[in-house]
Amino acid sequence: MSFDVEDPPLLGHGDLLRSLWSAAANGRLGHALLLTGPTGVGKFLALERLAEGLLCQHGPGEPCGTCPACRRVTAGSHPDLLRVDALSHGFEELTIHFVAHREIRPQNAWAGESIQTFLRLVAGEGGWRVVLIRDADRMNEETQNAFLKTLEEPGERVLLALETSRPEALLDTLRSRVVQAVATGLSPDQVRQALAMEAPEWASDSELLRLAAGSPGRLLTMGQRGALACLDLLVLAFREPIHAPSLMAELMDLPGEFKGRTPKAGERMRVRFLLELGMELHRDQDRMTAGLAPQDLMHGKRLADCPQPPAAARAQRLAAWLQGRRDVDLNLNPGGVLERVLDFTNSLLPEAQRR
Ligand SMILES: [Zn+2]
Repeated sequence: MSFDVEDPPLLGHGDLLRSLWSAAANGRLGHALLLTGPTGVGKFLALERLAEGLLCQHGPGEPCGTCPACRRVTAGSHPDLLRVDALSHGFEELTIHFVAHREIRPQNAWAGESIQTFLRLVAGEGGWRVVLIRDADRMNEETQNAFLKTLEEPGERVLLALETSRPEALLDTLRSRVVQAVATGLSPDQVRQALAMEAPEWASDSELLRLAAGSPGRLLTMGQRGALACLDLLVLAFREPIHAPSLMAELMDLPGEFKGRTPKAGERMRVRFLLELGMELHRDQDRMTAGLAPQDLMHGKRLADCPQPPAAARAQRLAAWLQGRRDVDLNLNPGGVLERVLDFTNSLLPEAQRR
């Protein structure tokens, strides 16, 4: 895999992009592509790069970066490229208004250009027209069904490119109509290089690099949120008798960036993060029980001296953590939810470990 520090958008995805450009040059590129892979490995950046290489006046191929078309892509003003990105427009969900034009529309719905309207236009520069959808799993079922119609007859020289880290959230009917490609994680060295400038203190931490699991985005999140300290405390509930209210309070007090619009939103974000980390611990312990070596697992070292409850207890424990996730989304008091999950996890330790 080639790696070019000067050119972050190709980072780790050069082989994939070159094969797609070459398919386009030979008239073999399908009209719908779904790029899957872990969060934070630069899937959307790779798709933007793909689009630039299709629209480049010297393309399809690696974009020159200097022709007027390339410059317009970079400036976000190319008329033949539509970026559909819910979060950057302040929406959590990709509602139907992103895909189809509706005469009647709720007041706060997306009022910008829809994919169907965009595709009705003739290509401004006589070449490809490209639609990029970020976090395609944010499309609700209604949106996905409307999008299916677009997928059936997108038009000549149109590429609909989606990316998601949760392909299971997409309807089978949608998945069966797109060509899937997988973006893989980066090596620890590549992650380190990718963040050498942006976050040198974290990029040089070998434990955080291991936690990053090949994703520069994940490394940043883990660093900003103080994941190592969170894990050190969370694992106590899996290892030895704890006093759940105190452990919860300590976890809520750890330094870490959890910026919500309100303090309560920040707390919810923190507890969601802690619950995700706890489920990772849980899954790694399951893998160890299945015979995987601790040194091959992200949290193996931390879990090495934790007792392994029987399968039935582990299933109950996972159910409790998942229920915790749902409860936080239902706006129950986040601290209370966390305390309950910690307490339940601790209650499943074998008798010998408990007071
Ligand atoms: Zn160019």
